[in-house]
Amino acid sequence: TVRVGVLALQGDVREHSRVLAALGVEPVPVRRPGDLDAVQGLVLPGGESSVIDKLARAFGMREPIRAAIAEGMPVYGTCAGLILLAARIANPIVGQESFGGLDVTVRRNAFGGQVESFETDLVAHGFDAPVHATFIRAPVVVGTGPDVQVLASLPESAGGGIVAVAQGNLLATAFHPEVSGDTRFHEMLLARIRGREVGGAR
Ligand code: GLN
Repeated sequence: TVRVGVLALQGDVREHSRVLAALGVEPVPVRRPGDLDAVQGLVLPGGESSVIDKLARAFGMREPIRAAIAEGMPVYGTCAGLILLAARIANPIVGQESFGGLDVTVRRNAFGGQVESFETDLVAHGFDAPVHATFIRAPVVVGTGPDVQVLASLPESAGGGIVAVAQGNLLATAFHPEVSGDTRFHEMLLARIRGREVGGAR
């Protein structure tokens, strides 16, 4: 069986675990460095990125996660998870760091005021039907490096902005498919895991 870790320090771990189980892989809560050895991929859930960052450092998880990313482990981050994967945070809280790996700049809590949380249908690259996307105090990608593929942007009528990206084995969305029950991004993560197994890496 394929085992996929879900970083379980804070955030919507249960929702991600449910989607992974529905796709026939084993979700594994990851809290300690050793937990990473037992998984072939990792999900960084939604939650509060500054809290997850703080806890990851307190639990000695920051460097092992950075090492796993550097070794090419497939990782999918949603919302706070996108912020944790981003190389640069435009507006971090004091002392906030990310794991990095994804060559993007993100702005946290990019949708203020009345539209703090909203849902919309998005056209995503490579998908034949739109994604029903749930945004909850979501970040937006405000800058991308040359190796980053943009998978989805908000329509101009909704203010625009890049909200789904991929780079190698890293995948991130500003929204929460795990909340709306869309399994396609998790399937993309699994495709990356399977591609690695066939390639014999690690
Ligand atoms: N606003 C949160 C943060 O900055 C992200 C919200 C979410 O994950 N739904 O980390």
